[in-house]
Amino acid sequence: MYRIPDIVIAVDGYSSTGKSSFAKLVAKEFSLLYLDSGALYRGVTLYAQENGIIDGDNNIDEPALKKALESLDLHFLSTQQGSVMCIGDRVVEKEIRTMAVSSSVSPIAAVPAVRNFVDEKLREAGAKKRVIMDGRDIGTAVFPDAELKIFMTASDEVRAQRRYDELVAKGDNPDINEVLKNLKERDYIDSHREMSPLTQAKDAFVLDNTNMTLKEEVTWMEGLIRGKFGILE
Ligand code: C5P
Repeated sequence: MYRIPDIVIAVDGYSSTGKSSFAKLVAKEFSLLYLDSGALYRGVTLYAQENGIIDGDNNIDEPALKKALESLDLHFLSTQQGSVMCIGDRVVEKEIRTMAVSSSVSPIAAVPAVRNFVDEKLREAGAKKRVIMDGRDIGTAVFPDAELKIFMTASDEVRAQRRYDELVAKGDNPDINEVLKNLKERDYIDSHREMSPLTQAKDAFVLDNTNMTLKEEVTWMEGLIRGKFGILE
């Protein structure tokens, strides 16, 4: 294992490109803290759904949302299984990964007050460095000075299949066409919103993992890190 300097690694990209699996493994390999920024957007979405702040057609009561953010206790809790998302003392890790939340998260994430709320938490965590964060705007907006930026992409079909398999493994019974539709919708909203849209940072390294295994991705990353920072031992 190489000891890398105190850096922030930003991993951005389209939905279901395997950013979190990749970032988690890189975190383990290089002893970094892993932070899943999407989990925070999903947590806000779940809270909004459960409290009547967003309806089934994704109409958002923005004043109510802003008010709720003033006192919303959304945080990560470290457990033996890794870090899990909590609202107050309730673990919501499972609830935030459902299709229902996936269908409303991008409209919620387009609200500037929500982005400011999440950004503050991410910057606080990143200030300590030695962190790898995945999301849509980490290398462009949250940490534009991140020492290493990765932009992940893969074909639509491969992404939909991976997401479908993940949902099935969790006991859901999704329709693959719905999964594909949701991915495309989220990518569209994420890429076209006004504040911090999903876009590739100019200084990001592109990782297209359509035909790669996770192990190959990590080997690719090791090469990149060695080349950029050298082996510190
Ligand atoms: O990464 P994940 O798919 O869990 O993210 C869920 C949603 O949260 C994304 O589709 C996007 O709308 C939003 N998001 C964002 N900016 C980030 C991370 C996630 O807008 N940095």
